[in-house]
Amino acid sequence: MHLPRLLSTAIVMALATSAFAADTKESAPPVVTPAPTFSHAAGAPADAIVLFDGKDLSAWKAEKGGEPKWKIIDGTMQMSGGGLMTREEFGDIQLHLEWAAPAEVKGDGQSRGNSGVYFQGRYEIQVLDSYQNPTYSNGQASAFYGHSAPLVNASRKPGEWQTYDIVFHAPKPTADGKVQPGSFTVLHNGVLVQDHIPIPGAATTSAVFTGVAPRGPLFLQDHGSPVRYRNIWLRKLEPKTAK
Ligand code: MG
Repeated sequence: MHLPRLLSTAIVMALATSAFAADTKESAPPVVTPAPTFSHAAGAPADAIVLFDGKDLSAWKAEKGGEPKWKIIDGTMQMSGGGLMTREEFGDIQLHLEWAAPAEVKGDGQSRGNSGVYFQGRYEIQVLDSYQNPTYSNGQASAFYGHSAPLVNASRKPGEWQTYDIVFHAPKPTADGKVQPGSFTVLHNGVLVQDHIPIPGAATTSAVFTGVAPRGPLFLQDHGSPVRYRNIWLRKLEPKTAK
């Protein structure tokens, strides 16, 4: 294990113990083996915005601006050189994406196949190799990081493709200056793991942005592991104007 990974693990653990109440390993959700692998790797609904179809990164920019450094390999995109942020910003959405932790297992806990999907650059659904890899349960795969452990652990083995289907409703400011909580509903490999859980206004630890906003970019975290993604699309959950 090299120094930056050790350091990042130490930072995560420090944040885990200070910025939010990390669940204990003993409270791990039960394991549920998902249905046998099926491929979603082609196609999206007719009204979807396709963010990655295996060909190019034109919908994305680098975390700190400029062209993204992620590599396109065999129709997938692999984390490299910092996080990835959509050029467009979104409010309430339905998101589909597929991801795979590295087949070669390195590290453990939060150091194994860590990435994350940050809605509005603020609220993270954790990406982590949680196959036989204990960690605090509100930090494992498909957790709303730091807030809500998944109902069950529906993880596939490292290297295998996994699906997230997520319905996100953003927290919204109210007229009296307070925040109306948003919500997450998450299916991991077709298994319900977050059942309409509330999203308070405060952003997840290590979020790109803070504060409540009507829109924000989707952000994929680079946490030092070469996690791969493919077939990413979303649908805006906004009233449609009749044509
Ligand atoms: Mg993460």
